[in-house]
Parts: sequence; structure tokens; C-alpha cells
Amino acid sequence: ATSFAGQRVALFGLGGSGLATAHALQAGGAELTAFDDNPKSVELAASQGLPTGDLHGLDWSGLDALVLSPGVPLTHPKPHWAAELAREAGVPIIGDIEIFVRERAALCPRAPFVAITGTNGKSTTTALIAHCLRHAGRDTQLGGNIGVAVLTLEPPAPERHYVVECSSYQIDLAPSLAPTVGILLNLTPDHLDRHGTMENYAAIKARLLKDAGTAVIGVDDDYGVGIADWHESEGNVVVRISKEKALDDGIVYRDGTLLSMRDGRIEAEFPLAGIGSLRGRHNGQNAAAAVAALTALGLRAAEIQAGLESFPGLVHRMEQVGRAGPVLFVNDSKATNADAAAPALASFERIHWIAGGLPKEGGIASLESLFPRVAKAYLIGEAAPAFAATLGERIPYEISGTLDVAVENAARDAARSGAEEVVLLSPACASFDQFRNFEVRGDSFRQLVEALPGIDVFRK
Ligand code: ADP
Repeated sequence: ATSFAGQRVALFGLGGSGLATAHALQAGGAELTAFDDNPKSVELAASQGLPTGDLHGLDWSGLDALVLSPGVPLTHPKPHWAAELAREAGVPIIGDIEIFVRERAALCPRAPFVAITGTNGKSTTTALIAHCLRHAGRDTQLGGNIGVAVLTLEPPAPERHYVVECSSYQIDLAPSLAPTVGILLNLTPDHLDRHGTMENYAAIKARLLKDAGTAVIGVDDDYGVGIADWHESEGNVVVRISKEKALDDGIVYRDGTLLSMRDGRIEAEFPLAGIGSLRGRHNGQNAAAAVAALTALGLRAAEIQAGLESFPGLVHRMEQVGRAGPVLFVNDSKATNADAAAPALASFERIHWIAGGLPKEGGIASLESLFPRVAKAYLIGEAAPAFAATLGERIPYEISGTLDVAVENAARDAARSGAEEVVLLSPACASFDQFRNFEVRGDSFRQLVEALPGIDVFRK
């Protein structure tokens, strides 16, 4: 990161993105000191030739920046000691996305840059936009909160597009964002443990749009409505999107089709009905945001439609794994709580629902209105008895115990009617009682499905 050449920088947090950031700063000529509370991480960094040292002993006066890794507490539950030391000394606290945006500003400010945030749908929207850009032949880099550290991406070049998912934490540490297109998908209470009040959380998320060339804003919640009105009153370019409202201007979702509206008239239509990876109204919102961003970046309607239609979807998020005759197998292992499982349950009918794992507070009671869509539940893991109690007499269930038994029994039951049925893994639970993480759980599901007789596997 040459925009930091000669600057004195402290870096705390030497996980994957922290290491990538440290290497980028070192290569760019920063005078760096890197540290972590875990001595093993410090050792690893030192073995890679990075300058490490205890930040307690650092002369903080005159430091140009403290770089924090995502996950190091800034305020909630209480500030990390490194953040406190920086604040006392008046040292700016930034994250890797700030380094990336300064680098882009220095090297190639016109490199198109889309930044995406919101409470839900960030990764899907980020992946969808990147996919459509690539499909249209544009040089595209995908990163940020989606799991690829931005400083590991190819360096900014004039026609190189960046599509970056930003958590509110990352936005908080990136004061110079200024994306070509900024997207705020939706805002619902979440992560309040980390950001205190909803107002504070909304304010941080809204900051992503501050200096955006085009601000794409979901207006299905009151926060989005207010933020869109404010931007418009400031004379900024705003595109409103909605999955449920009618709008005279913006992108709306109606009966499975996205309509691009201007002055009350339909300018372009994007049918989503046959696109398996974009099933459900919530994906109408994600795709609306993508259409708005891609239009702002100059893609033609036909290019956008071709991109939408070839989107493979994200793994572990309502991922269609395969089909055995009329029975569809769907992996939604990412749904680690009841709220996250709701969209998948709302997107299908005649569901053979594999649920359970390490229970979360509240269980599945909040999903009650979706129970009629479930033909039978197959309960696994520690949550099985509690889920069984909630289901009671309302829907048939069995305690399968483990995922392999659940898949086998669900596949057998689903095949019986000969009609269209869905075997859905959407656990509404964490995975740690039986799996290392939700990815391993989803991979196991895929393997079990692939081993079933008569299965057609969908390849990515
Ligand atoms: P994020 O990156 O914001 O966590 P993802 O795109 O990974 O979101 O989606 C995670 C889960 O959230 C999906 O499996 C789906 O159930 C749900 N979801 C996706 N998009 C939306 C949306 N626009 N509104 C509400 N829920 C959504």
C-alpha cells in the first residue's frame, strides 16, 4: 500500500486479513509494528518477515494510524486496549478497507468500485454483482466481508471493477469510502451487541453512502426511506429499490419480475421467475440492488439479464445441490438461527426440513407461520428435543439424530408422493455440536446427497 509509504503504522490482529494487511503495508514502505494478543500469531507473523512488537511499549505520539482487524472490539462490549491507547493518543483507527480505498484514490480513482452493506443479503448481492460484471466481460475483483481480504486483490487499474462487501464494523473503520456505487440493502436490528443502539448502527451503515457516486437504497424499512430522502435533498444520485412497494422511480419487484421504473413508466423488465439461485422475495431485493448498480456501471439490460440467469448462487445459502426426479435438494447450512432459516422455508412448499444442531435462544417458535409449508421435519443434534416440543402435533417429525440418517429418511419420504418436494437443510442452529462449522455441515450434506441413488448433481 504505497499511499502509506514512510508512515508510522501500528497494526493489531494477525489473523488472515491482518497478515495480508501487514504484508501490503510493509511492501508499500510503511514503518510498521504488528501485534496480536495471541503469541502464536505474533510468532507466525515474525516468521514471515513482518516487523512485530508489543504495542504497549510503542511511542503512540505521532503514529499515523492504528490498523485493526475485523472482530477487534472498538466500543462494544468494551474497547480493546489497543483501540484505547490509540484514542488517548489521538491516533486515527482504520481497517483494511480504508487502506484499499486510499490506495485506489492514489493509483486509479476511476477504477469502478461498488460497496455493499445491509443487515441481510450482503454476500448474495456482492457475489451476484461480481458474477454479472464478469459475465459481461469486465475485469472484476470480489472481496471484503465475503471472505477475501481486499488487500489480497489485484491492484487498482483503470478498467478493473471492485465489488466489496462491507460489514458495519468495516464501514466504521473506513472514513474515506466514496464508492462509485454504494448499496444499502436493508436495516433491521442485528449486531446491536456491537454497536449499541439501532440509531448508531443505522448511522454507521448509512455512512457507506456518504460520498457515493450513486446511492442504491432499499426502502422497505423506515430507516432506508429516511436515508434515501435525505440523500435526495442533498442533491445526490439516489436509486430506490423495493421488494414490496410500488415506486414511480427505482427498481421494484412485482410477481417475480424486476421492473426498472422512471416517472411512473416501466423502462426495462428483468424476469427472475425461472432463476433457481434467486428464488424468493428477499432475493428480489438483492437482485434489484444488483440491477441498479449494474445499470449505473453502464451494463445493458440484456447483459444484466444474462448475468442474472447464469448466477450459480452462493454455497450453503439456499444452494440447489441436486435433484432426484421431482425431488429437489437444497443446502441452506448458513441459516444458523431461526431468522436466517425463514427465507428458505418461505421459498418452498412440501418441504422435508432438516433442522437442529446447537440450539440458539428462542428456538424455532418464531417460524410457526411457515410450518404449513413443511411436510415433515427431521431433527438432528442437541436441539432435537426442544424443536420436537415446539413442533408438537402441528407437523410430523422424527428425531433423526445425525445428518446422514436425516438425509436418507428425508430423501425416501420425499420420493414417495412422486410430486415436487424439497429436501431442505436449513438448521436454524449453530453446527458446533456435530460439525466444525456451517461450511463443513453444508459440505457433508452435499456429499450425502451426491451419494443418493438416481441423483442429478448440479455442478457450479
Ligand atoms: P449476509 O452476507 O448479509 O449475511 P447472505 O447473502 O449471506 O447475507 O444471506 C444469508 C441468509 O440471509 C440467506 O440464506 C437468506 O436466508 C437470508 N437473506 C438473503 N438476502 C436477504 C434479504 N435481502 N433480506 C432478508 N434476508 C435475506
